[in-house]
Amino acid sequence: MGRAFVYVIVGGGVAAGYAALEFTRKGVSDGELCIISDEPVAPYERPALSKGFLLPEDPTRLPSFHTCVGANDEILTPKWYKEHGIELVLGTRVKSVDARRLTLVTSTGETITYNFLIIATGARALKLEEFGVEGSDAENVCYLRDLSDADRLATVIQSSSNGNAVVIGGGYIGMECAASLVINKINVTMVLAGAHCSKYSPLLLENLVSVWLCLTFFSFSMTVARLFTPKIATFYEDYYMGKGVKFIKGTVLTSFEFDSDKKVTAVNLKDGNQLPADLVVVGIGIRPNISLFEGQLTIEKGGIKVNSQMQSSESSVYAIGDVATFPVKLYGEMRRLEHVDFARKSARHAVSAIMEPEKTGEFDYLPCFYSRFFAFSWQFYGDHVGEVVHFGEYEDGEVFGAYWVKEGHLVGCFLEGGTKEQYETISKATQLKPAVTDMEELEREGLGFTQTV
Ligand code: FAD
Ligand code: NDP
Repeated sequence: MGRAFVYVIVGGGVAAGYAALEFTRKGVSDGELCIISDEPVAPYERPALSKGFLLPEDPTRLPSFHTCVGANDEILTPKWYKEHGIELVLGTRVKSVDARRLTLVTSTGETITYNFLIIATGARALKLEEFGVEGSDAENVCYLRDLSDADRLATVIQSSSNGNAVVIGGGYIGMECAASLVINKINVTMVLAGAHCSKYSPLLLENLVSVWLCLTFFSFSMTVARLFTPKIATFYEDYYMGKGVKFIKGTVLTSFEFDSDKKVTAVNLKDGNQLPADLVVVGIGIRPNISLFEGQLTIEKGGIKVNSQMQSSESSVYAIGDVATFPVKLYGEMRRLEHVDFARKSARHAVSAIMEPEKTGEFDYLPCFYSRFFAFSWQFYGDHVGEVVHFGEYEDGEVFGAYWVKEGHLVGCFLEGGTKEQYETISKATQLKPAVTDMEELEREGLGFTQTV
């Protein structure tokens, strides 16, 4: 026995929430749409988990960060789904999908059929075990991907006040969590494989495995592309050090020390250091959840390959968010992005392509990333390739940034501390790819350059 829906979304994260709102705006009827999620709560804004959720005072809690509050839109509570006739199946995993027969089977044994399937299964955190380090299931070793991880991290933080935390990885999770730990009065040491805190291009994530292997066996200096230039990274690292954070660079974790309760008491590093630890946070990248579809859909660059309508190699199946490898029209390249702005916009586009195909043009997306830690807040638009020109006040740390120029055209812009108007301006300028003839002049003009485009 099973049920049939016109539209099914597998996965109930950011992209699913934004897709649901778009479906209602395009006029979905009662009982036509079903969302199946293995999380026990309605879709929420995942970025809150490493920021407001970890604050010591008045931490953010559901329902305040259900989607689509992050885009200043309606907050979709479970009641909202009910009122809009959307079947929200929570705490239920999709165990198999037959993309040709348009059916799937859930962990309760139910078979569900659909006319259109949207894949929004996101990603999972990479585990230390995948790199040969055992013991990361200890109760004080924390990953951060979903609400249950965040609950656990918040609990361990509470019991570690004035204690020592080791943060493994200097990517988004590492930097944002380290700031939250400092705010919670915990002593933080960050262990970075490379020379600086980094923001990897998701396209190069596959390289992390080889980076790890290289670091394990050879002394290796990181060369993969990063969003943070050494100058940008140094600015933030200096600030973190001013807040008491210690950095240990160019090495990796090799093993844990445990007490009799199987709690971690220290971490051992490849360089011979041993660091005492009441708490360990691990942020070493992710892998998209695509295993249900391997062998059924075309996979490219680690994600489900879609066209400019977010449609996969099976015409009734669409993919959005972290799992989708899509054509970036601006660069004529296939990419996969792991950021919330893309999850939101790809969701809206897929729903529009399904419900109003004749009115929906090609997805023309400008990559956009952002982060917030301590009192800092930056945004990046475009592509971080080519030559870099830094601008602004790196000394006082209020407003500064960098441009990327490739083949004589502006292709990317990073800005810390900008106003809403300034972010809109750099976004527009990056989309237009204006010609840059004189790099020194660009440096002198700084942020003013984008206002003249
Ligand atoms: P997700 O939001 O991960 O949702 C996927 C959902 O599918 C999950 O609920 C998962 O449990 C479910 N699922 C998976 N497999 C199955 C299955 N077989 N059956 C049923 N359900 C399934 N990006 C930014 O740009 N800025 C930020 O500041 C930022 N902060 C972040 C902070 C944290 C802690 C994390 C983890 C991510 C952050 N991101 C940020 C990234 C952003 O949240 C993701 O890019 C975004 O959530 C991707 O949306 P998604 O819907 O594709 O995947
Ligand atoms: P990232 O891809 O941002 O960074 C992974 C980090 O893993 C690298 O910076 C690297 O650090 C580290 N690493 C790799 N190998 C090793 C190693 N052998 N030893 C130590 N460190 C290693 O992944 P995160 O885990 O930080 O984030 C997970 C996901 O969550 C990503 O998709 C990210 O986009 C998303 N996210 C986004 C946020 C945002 O956009 N603001 C905020 C939080 C999460 P090193 O510098 O030492 O080489």
